[in-house]
Amino acid sequence: MCLVMTSPLSFDLPDIPVQAIKDPVLDAAGVSLSILRTDLVHPVISGNKWFKLKHNLISARQKEKKTLLSFGGAWSNHLHALAHAGRIFDFCTVGVIRGELPTTLNPCLVEAQEAGMILHPVDRITYRNKDSTLISLLKELYGDFHLIPEGGGNLEGAMGCAEIASLYSENDFDLVTLACGTGTTLAGLASVSCLPILGFQVLKGDGYLAEEVRQFLTKTSLKATCEWTINDEYHVGGYAKTNDKFMAFLTEFESRHGIPLEPVYSGKLLYGIFALAKKRDFFPQKCSILAIHGGGLQGRRGYIN
Ligand SMILES: *Cc1c(COP(=O)(O)O)cnc(C)c1O
Repeated sequence: MCLVMTSPLSFDLPDIPVQAIKDPVLDAAGVSLSILRTDLVHPVISGNKWFKLKHNLISARQKEKKTLLSFGGAWSNHLHALAHAGRIFDFCTVGVIRGELPTTLNPCLVEAQEAGMILHPVDRITYRNKDSTLISLLKELYGDFHLIPEGGGNLEGAMGCAEIASLYSENDFDLVTLACGTGTTLAGLASVSCLPILGFQVLKGDGYLAEEVRQFLTKTSLKATCEWTINDEYHVGGYAKTNDKFMAFLTEFESRHGIPLEPVYSGKLLYGIFALAKKRDFFPQKCSILAIHGGGLQGRRGYIN
């Protein structure tokens, strides 16, 4: 149980490499590509989830909340990161899981539980609604908590993601690209960026995410300082869906460039960039593209075997 809650919050960052990628597809398109390795931001609080949690942890500690509660699926990078953040910074954590727990927990949930997270599964309809009845029940069970929405999608999350812009020099690039789930990372970056941003939606649904990001910006009173767009063509069939061509691309990319990807986010980002580069007229000649690797490599384990 969590009795102490005194460890100071420290968010020191290691140097995050910006790695140039040499590839015939990019050469043929006349563009250059570098990858910002935010997967290396922390050994276990990975990628953009580290940034999304930062201000949530600060806010919870200021409000003297002992418990952090959030929502996610059985392979959630966000809950995995939250569980580890809780262990490291002395918070109790509760993960409300969508759907029944598998009889044998997957490695993501095992690690979350080992890091001290209480797993609270709810059926899919209850999960989707997340209504006040559920929240009251959770408060009865676990006491008062700092609630973080699914995927870390609140103002604190976006504020942290805005800090990703300080990890690269805007002078070196013409375009920033990233994979989008909730779009919170894009929204945060768009609130500080001078460079245009192109997001790749990893869920199916024409144009729906751009609308959600617009609503999120309005709700949080964040203002975009740059142009941003979301491509909805390279989700490969929907969230966490794959096909042979896509998996072959990942294998080829990893062996050629030595940068690990996972199929849910970073894989679809690179897949989308390469597909657009092959279209030739999409990126302007000499376009210098930065791709933000969002981390979340723990999720690869859901695909091995
Ligand atoms: C969660 C996640 C994303 C999506 O971030 P959003 O802010 O929800 O759009 C992208 N990449 C990785 C690796 C993630 O874990």
